[in-house]
Amino acid sequence: MSLLSRRRLLRTVGTGLSTAAVGGAAAVAAAPAAAAAPREAPADAVGMLYDATKCIGCKACVAECTKVNDLAPDTELSGGLWQMPADLNPQTKNVIKLYADEATGRTSFVKRQCMHCVDPACVSGCPFNALAKGPQGIVGWDGERCIGCRYCEVSCPFEIPKFEWKQFNPRIVKCELCRHVLARDGQPGCTRVCPTGAVVFGRRDLLLADAKARIATSPGVYHQDRVYGEKEAGGTQVLYLSHVPFEKLGLPTLSERAIPAGTRHGGVLVKFVAFPVVLYGVFLRFFRRNWKVHEAEVARVKAEQGLEEQL
Ligand code: SF4
Ligand code: SF4
Ligand code: SF4
Repeated sequence: MSLLSRRRLLRTVGTGLSTAAVGGAAAVAAAPAAAAAPREAPADAVGMLYDATKCIGCKACVAECTKVNDLAPDTELSGGLWQMPADLNPQTKNVIKLYADEATGRTSFVKRQCMHCVDPACVSGCPFNALAKGPQGIVGWDGERCIGCRYCEVSCPFEIPKFEWKQFNPRIVKCELCRHVLARDGQPGCTRVCPTGAVVFGRRDLLLADAKARIATSPGVYHQDRVYGEKEAGGTQVLYLSHVPFEKLGLPTLSERAIPAGTRHGGVLVKFVAFPVVLYGVFLRFFRRNWKVHEAEVARVKAEQGLEEQL
């Protein structure tokens, strides 16, 4: 699905602004309650548990993710020979990276994709609810609502959503936990093909219990005996175990507070103030470009007229 059509854009902008107005008033009225109650994962929330100690870096998950999501393989680094994404990008929803510490000789692979946050900053940052938490807490993108403002991209503390800059009708690309195949396959593509069980799919509460059981039965193996994602940024539905510090794997050090919880009023401000500013910027750019075309055309006509007078 791609970005919305022009007619739909106008309808969405209208609906979005009125929703923001109503929602803003309601949010302001309900402010003390919203600040007091952190959001919880739904009881049936699903997610993934990635255990870096089990990952062999085969990248079967990367290849299957590309296939199941109908994406073009990123072959840029290999000169067009094979799939070799350096990081998440508009063609890559899932990437395996290598951490290597030369001083200690320690290495680890890390799988990166959307964390499916319990209280996602991308969802609260989107002025038109194009990103939303759906059934089982999966964070999905709706091209019929998206206007391409990229607020989700700048809101995400994990730097996950990617905008298709090179496309005529761009999408926001990120892992959606393979929601389009869950009913058919029972699990996402990456967990289905992983040969070592380094990444597994299931209910978040069961995955968390599994992760804690692994820590309990393997003392001294896991970093800080901690599950990353249990509490970070209000909790995520993708959980990590690692034998090296999480920040070495590119997982940011975050407080337990959900980002939208601290910016809930900021979000309303964004919807009321920042969004019109962005719209103004877009229109300004459009008119500037057209004005330049107009000026060039006037100059051309004048030059032609001058030529005719000389003749
Ligand atoms: S990781 Fe980023 S894109 Fe994914 S749900 Fe959380 S805030 Fe949204
Ligand atoms: S859940 Fe699906 S979209 Fe997400 S990383 Fe795995 S295969 Fe890719
Ligand atoms: S398929 Fe499994 S073992 Fe292979 S790279 Fe992906 S997570 Fe690691």
